[in-house]
Amino acid sequence: ALSLSKKAQAVKPSSTLEITAKAKKLKAEGIDVVGFGAGEPDFNTPKNICEKACEAINSGFTKYTPASGTDELKKAICQKFSDFNHIKYEPNQIVISNGGKHSLTNIFEAILNPGDEVIIPAPYWLSYPEIVKLSDGVPVIIDTTKEQGFKPTAQQILEACTDKTKALILNSPSNPTGMIYSRDELEEIAKIAVEKDFYVVADEMYEYLTYDGAEHISIASLNDEIYKRTITCSGVSKSYAMTGWRIGYTGSSVEIAKLMGSVQSHQTSNPNSIAQKAAYEALVGPQDAVEAMKEEFDKRRKYMFERISKMPYVSTLEPKGAFYVFIDAGEVLAKEYKGKVIGDIANFASILIEEYNVAVIPCADFGCDEFIRLSYAISLEQIEKGLNRIEEFLKAL
Ligand code: PLP
Repeated sequence: ALSLSKKAQAVKPSSTLEITAKAKKLKAEGIDVVGFGAGEPDFNTPKNICEKACEAINSGFTKYTPASGTDELKKAICQKFSDFNHIKYEPNQIVISNGGKHSLTNIFEAILNPGDEVIIPAPYWLSYPEIVKLSDGVPVIIDTTKEQGFKPTAQQILEACTDKTKALILNSPSNPTGMIYSRDELEEIAKIAVEKDFYVVADEMYEYLTYDGAEHISIASLNDEIYKRTITCSGVSKSYAMTGWRIGYTGSSVEIAKLMGSVQSHQTSNPNSIAQKAAYEALVGPQDAVEAMKEEFDKRRKYMFERISKMPYVSTLEPKGAFYVFIDAGEVLAKEYKGKVIGDIANFASILIEEYNVAVIPCADFGCDEFIRLSYAISLEQIEKGLNRIEEFLKAL
């Protein structure tokens, strides 16, 4: 009688937390650890945004708001979708939630029935399969390779389709690979989605963080048919250094927005009123802080790519977006360290943290068990120190 939920028990706790916990423990012991694990900007939220939040508090904007968010913020989001993404949404197509992760949860709650399949190209952000399973869906993983830029081919998607396929998750720019889908690639995927009649969940959380002139393209902007089938998901966490504020949002059909809004109304009521005022300022206020953060990320990205490209036994593709470098460490795994074969990626990460005091994310839970992810959301000085240590380790193998 005291048994627990099978669904909750089937959820894999986040493996990234293990390394982070180890790094924290070592730091607490006074050890100088370099942490490449960060999934959030190291910058503070821009001042103009913080000030608007203080104003909200002081003026008493501290009560419940409509469940799916304020009209003011919805209108600002529509404007941003129109200007930046070239997608037309009306305020009744927008649902504001408690972060991008919550938006994704709402989406799958709104579209999935038990047993529905969701195609997820690997490498993927580790929460996708778990969020799908929590909504009674079945993740269907497509493996991609470095040679294909970690993006699925049309053929692969077609082969993954069954009569239960409900949706495909597309993440561009991608966490963990830093890859971006081109217009042509999106056109091809859109064609399949329309032909096979499934939804596309477009996670565009890192849309502002693209480099080398790479353009962010939203699949929903391509044509009416794919627009109808796409739920576009974004938020202020990564672009505006607002991870702690917890504001995410979606644009979708009115029908899906209604369902998401009613699910949310029972689960969390509305997103935080103060954070909505702050997010409004983020979207409509001056954008210079965003540009400055992006420039800084770009410098780090170039430095990381150059250094890692010269290291033995590892290789990487130049990231074009987000703030991660995704490294193929397959060759390292066959090497011996202190007389023992390194063997698997978790062991590699564990040697790096314990012996070299560098925290990296082993990507087995991202669907790639020979890769590590390094974030460049840390200072250049830290990056240099950490890369020196990794290089020292690799050169000694
Ligand atoms: N989508 C991707 C690809 C992410 O990497 C993250 C955060 O790590 C999110 C969504 C969730 O963002 P939020 O912090 O707004 O929940």
